Amino acid sequence: MQHKSKLPNLETTIFSVMSTLAHKHNAINLSQGFPDFKGDQKLIDLVSDAMNAGHNHYAPMPGVFKLREAIAGKYDMLYKSSYNPENEITVTSGATEAIYSAITAFIRPNDEVIVFRPAYDCYIPSVELNGGTVTSIQLQSPEYKVNWNEVKEKISSKTKMIIINTPHNPSGTIFSKEDMLQLQELTNGTNIIVLSDEVYEHIIFDKEQHQSVCLFPDLKSRSFITASFGKTFHNTGWKTGYCCAPKALMDEFVKVHQFNVFSVNHPIQIALAEYIKSPNHYLELGSFFQHKRDLFLDLIKDSRFKFTASKGTYFQALDYSDISNENDFDLAVRLTKEKGIASIPISAFNANKLDNKVLRFCFAKTDDTLKRAADILNKI
Ligand code: PMP
Ligand code: GLN
Repeated sequence: MQHKSKLPNLETTIFSVMSTLAHKHNAINLSQGFPDFKGDQKLIDLVSDAMNAGHNHYAPMPGVFKLREAIAGKYDMLYKSSYNPENEITVTSGATEAIYSAITAFIRPNDEVIVFRPAYDCYIPSVELNGGTVTSIQLQSPEYKVNWNEVKEKISSKTKMIIINTPHNPSGTIFSKEDMLQLQELTNGTNIIVLSDEVYEHIIFDKEQHQSVCLFPDLKSRSFITASFGKTFHNTGWKTGYCCAPKALMDEFVKVHQFNVFSVNHPIQIALAEYIKSPNHYLELGSFFQHKRDLFLDLIKDSRFKFTASKGTYFQALDYSDISNENDFDLAVRLTKEKGIASIPISAFNANKLDNKVLRFCFAKTDDTLKRAADILNKI
């Protein structure tokens, strides 16, 4: 038998590649983004309570209603923006499923999707599996600023979707209010859908405000928001997230969701519904990770790496152009094998693997891990 691959050029995700290598060489793993400390015991207890109380069968297809209500409550409180828990919020199997389902619900063969590069790695394959084509807009290190005139030029009659991500993985930059207003203006009067990946919504530093699409009424009316409890509550392996969108968009999303996963882990949803009633559990995240960012940057301030402090996410981009001419992938591999520290080469997310000599380091780690990592980085 012969089969033509639907994704002939797809490689194994860089996160698996680097984490596997880190494991093999017993390196400090600052590559794939996940904490090396335990999440809140209260939340773990709530999950086992829910299991013991018998919530071990299928959850409702769009998610446990109390959790959807609690999510709606958060948007009301933080952004004065309302999503109807009945039909505008779906609990998903991580943000990854939300992104895939939103794209699959709308992208047809030959539709164009604008993606800013570097881009989180699940966006493009999801578009291509659906026959869509990607129009990349490459942003440049270290500012990764969007030139909205360039976006205007790239929008065509075939543009069906624009994908944005703020705070941005992997660069740690954020969109300003002005960026959002520009996006709103460019999409006004079009049929373009915006997919706004806001998984790091609560991990934002230096008193900056997260600019959610839901703060901009015209943008909100054409947007999906995707979010991840894994990032927010230090349990990336639970793979639970959600998606919000106006009813007309969500109606189509749910058609894909129901036959993609049908429904999501039930006891975890019951536990999350209770846990997020206390806003402190997510409102304190910014200062928690800002402390880690500041510690990490202070520890490596005399190293030969150059950096602009991350403004959000739990990633820090480090420029090594004063240290080596090697391409970023080769260097990331060598540092893992020879120096015992793993990172992510940013070229993996760039158009044509553009190599700006930048590596991404995850600082969602204990202070002790960060100190051990800095000791290594200071000697490179
Ligand atoms: N988008 C971005 C920008 C991410 O960094 C991640 C990883 N958390 C995801 C989406 C996927 O989230 P999840 O692990 O909840 O599927
Ligand atoms: N979001 C995580 C990161 O950026 C990785 C998730 C994954 O491995 N798929 O590192």
